[in-house]
Amino acid sequence: MPTLPKRPMIALAALAALLAAWLGFAAWYDHAQRAGEQPATYSALIERAGRGEIASITFSDDTGHAVATDGTRSRIVMPVTDDLLKELRSHKVAIAFDDGPVGLMAQTVGVLDRAAPFLVVALLVGGLALSGGQFFGMGRATRIRPEDTGTVFADVAGVDEAKEELRETVQFLKDPRRFAMAGARVPKGILLVGPPGTGKTMLAKAAAGEAGVPFFAASGSDFVEMFVGLGAARVRNLFKAARANAPCLLFIDEIDALAGKRGESNSHSEREQTLNQLLVEMDGIVEGGDVVVIAATNRSEMLDAAVLRPGRFDRHIHVSLPDVAGREAILGVHAGRLTLAPDVCARTVARGTPGFSGAELANLANEAALSAARQGRVVVTMADFETAKDRVLMGVERRSLALSAHERRLTAYHEAGHALVSLRCPEADPIHKATIIPRGRALGMVVRLPEGDRVSVSRAKLLADIAVAMAGRAAEEIVFGQDHVTTGAEADFRAATDLARRMVAAWGMSEAIGFVAHAGSEPGVRSERTAWRIDEEIRRITDEGMEHARRLLRSDRTALDSIARALLERETLTGDEITGLADQEVERATEAA
Ligand code: ADP
Ligand code: ZN
Repeated sequence: MPTLPKRPMIALAALAALLAAWLGFAAWYDHAQRAGEQPATYSALIERAGRGEIASITFSDDTGHAVATDGTRSRIVMPVTDDLLKELRSHKVAIAFDDGPVGLMAQTVGVLDRAAPFLVVALLVGGLALSGGQFFGMGRATRIRPEDTGTVFADVAGVDEAKEELRETVQFLKDPRRFAMAGARVPKGILLVGPPGTGKTMLAKAAAGEAGVPFFAASGSDFVEMFVGLGAARVRNLFKAARANAPCLLFIDEIDALAGKRGESNSHSEREQTLNQLLVEMDGIVEGGDVVVIAATNRSEMLDAAVLRPGRFDRHIHVSLPDVAGREAILGVHAGRLTLAPDVCARTVARGTPGFSGAELANLANEAALSAARQGRVVVTMADFETAKDRVLMGVERRSLALSAHERRLTAYHEAGHALVSLRCPEADPIHKATIIPRGRALGMVVRLPEGDRVSVSRAKLLADIAVAMAGRAAEEIVFGQDHVTTGAEADFRAATDLARRMVAAWGMSEAIGFVAHAGSEPGVRSERTAWRIDEEIRRITDEGMEHARRLLRSDRTALDSIARALLERETLTGDEITGLADQEVERATEAA
């Protein structure tokens, strides 16, 4: 991407380079001047002076630079007292005082020292005076010509509603006059709201690409400046450039950095000026510029109300994390560039990546390609996607991590516990695989495959999920005894408590608390007594989950043993393998009966 020249940076860098060169020269010059100077002692100097060997001495501060009659130079550090001067004079030594600093270096520093305040003022005044023109320029704004964007709506997958909403904008940019003649008022300010990596920048770029107009991009943080007036000047320049290239599309990422609520903390006048300038420019655009401004944020509630007023950013488009179909479509875009083995199923990968953003999915496809490349393959297989997913989710495998036999056994039982309980609770998500290969901070894990993205979740499923979360610790307890349980269940407990808390405080799933939403209310609003009862209920639900897990595992001990044994042998088991092992045990038990 071409960026505009950063003039102030270049000018400053050139100045700094010149100064450094001069100081280097000064240091060299001083050194050369003093090269012949030998350090000497006070007594040696007096002695030589007594023999008439010293022609002259120049004092600067406490250092005397002496020149002998034979031309040799020496340097003595000593306090300049009247006695000393009298003594030297009596030996006919020429005495001089250098009242300024000696040497080129010292003189340069002296000059800079005195000139510094003027220099700073000159820089500031110059910068501010020129900032309306070109000196501070458009900052880091990037301009991409229409033929360069290369992005079209087809590249952005899984955000059909957002694309639909932007179609009118594209039509307007293609032919602004048609809209003007019809007297239609087209929204010129569009706010894309959504988490990072969901394709907001891509959407804006694609809208420009579809309309065939220039695309200007800047980030809100580019306008956060130290000096009053600079941010505002940057905003002015950006819009000026956009207007000069109309029709065009101007994209401002992270607009919250630039247009956060005013006057909440101590009012920062630079920020206020910048924001005011943005409002002025927006109003100007709405009145007569064929420019569409698209801004992006993931925190629209942080924005100042003035920014959202009609005529400014009054059209809001939500870009949310993709659902399972969206993820499949996005994977289609990014995996489409790879050579895929026939076993790769985008649907399965999509199902196993809930909560992934478009950017994370793009990263996943890239990691899969890297995994294949590492093994010298061109064709990317499903196994590569598995490796990539684990890597993205959990960090790199740590096969070198030395675990004792006991730790491995404990981890195997812990994971077998999760796996078996999720198998025995029909409401819980099915198991995708279990592994005891350490990764990141986890010693092992069970990966489950949610059935699509659920908008609503039943109470039965939540209780099953809590029991599954508790099952790791429950298995440790049953097999190794209370005293040998480990810290490995921390994340499990956090997940279970979090679910239980929301059941009680947000989803009205506890009779004791009732159908009241406490989740969002301020701590002060919620009474001490209610808070205590909520905690009691959370405790009851998690305890019951633990008890449920214990019961299931105790009654199925042989299945637990055989899954743990298989994990110790093979390290990783697929969901089908685990189901097979558990069913085998059931068959054996019924045969025996
Ligand atoms: P945002 O602006 O919302 O933070 P970006 O538009 O910068 O996200 O997305 C970053 C990258 O993630 C894109 O370059 C693209 O590779 C990928 N990506 C994100 N969303 C999508 C999507 N919906 N379809 C295809 N790729 C996407
Ligand atoms: Zn666990």
